[in-house]
Amino acid sequence: MHVSAALSRIAPSQTTAMTDRATQLREAGRDVISLSVGEPDFATPPHVVEAAKAALDRGDTKYTPVGGTSRLKQAAALHFARDLGIEVPTSQVTVSAGGKQAIFHAMLATISEGDEVIVPAPWWVSYPEIVRFAGGKVVPLHTHADHNFRFTPADLEAQIGPRTLWLLLNSPGNPTGACLPAETLLGIGEVLRHHPRVMVLSDDIYAPINYTGGAHATLANLCPDLADRILTISGVSKSHAMTGFRIGVAAGPEWLIKAMERLQSHSSGNPCSISQAAAVAAFEGPQDFLAQWCERFRARRDLVVGAINAIPGLSTPVPDGAFYCMVNAAPLMERFGDDAALALHLLDHGVAIVPASAFGGKDGFRISFAADEAKLVEACRRIAEAVA
Ligand code: GLU
Repeated sequence: MHVSAALSRIAPSQTTAMTDRATQLREAGRDVISLSVGEPDFATPPHVVEAAKAALDRGDTKYTPVGGTSRLKQAAALHFARDLGIEVPTSQVTVSAGGKQAIFHAMLATISEGDEVIVPAPWWVSYPEIVRFAGGKVVPLHTHADHNFRFTPADLEAQIGPRTLWLLLNSPGNPTGACLPAETLLGIGEVLRHHPRVMVLSDDIYAPINYTGGAHATLANLCPDLADRILTISGVSKSHAMTGFRIGVAAGPEWLIKAMERLQSHSSGNPCSISQAAAVAAFEGPQDFLAQWCERFRARRDLVVGAINAIPGLSTPVPDGAFYCMVNAAPLMERFGDDAALALHLLDHGVAIVPASAFGGKDGFRISFAADEAKLVEACRRIAEAVA
């Protein structure tokens, strides 16, 4: 075995590991409901599927420009302007194999050994691993369930130091569902004006899945004077049920977009040509179903939150967005030891979830409620039985 120093700093993704485990068990004939991976169960919209087929029939099966076709860059610029209120020319847009790759490339392209990256915790599994792989130091910004996993500008200010290079924002957030309100983002902008070295990666991949009733708020829109140090990540995976297509888009300063594309030219090259055609259809086609899907997610959220909070020993706040809830299982830890043991116990009872420790949390687990209602009801019944 000859793994690099960089690789030995990171662990495998626990969201994907748990999902693979659930798939293996199902293939072995076990009845397992997987609420582990964050993936809408809705079918990809037919007009998107048709666009992919048409791309194949047209022979769009060859290399494209590394950072995406100009057609998709235009469609992505339309999306950033229309849906996130961020006006950018196509020279400030790039396309990658999922949002994850854009984040990876942005971090690898900018972090030098010892640079610090502030990451609100609980965090999405891959953020700290990407930072560590790139040689950066993760500075957690802890948030708590009793404040709905939100932090204040003052909490942020306290974590900024001379080596801070990035702040990662993710709203609506994975794994907590927390949304940063506009006033908090404006306060964050004010803090950042005093720290000109700090850049912001704003991961807005869950933007359309927002239950607050307010419009999606994002830093590059609210603080345009800071836009030259904000990289906004978006995509079609979560919004348009296109996880398998692997298309993410990013908008930011031209130097950074070029740096990410320089790296991409040596890693994966262009994102899949067929998926790019499908993503054009997703961004340019009808968007009205997104609100209907959001309503269905809201109903599922209410179902899961109600069921979990009725189980002795478990509790969860009500998520503002995305399709996750972070369940606190601290009262059960005396019986189970830790959240990894609890996760295995739940798996034995036919439900796959991801332990909170995978997200920098503890004594709990994340549920992805992007599954149909019948499965959610049955999964909550199994959880109740398993911990009774
Ligand atoms: N972002 C999703 C999740 O957290 C997909 C899996 C992954 O890439 O981590 O479940």
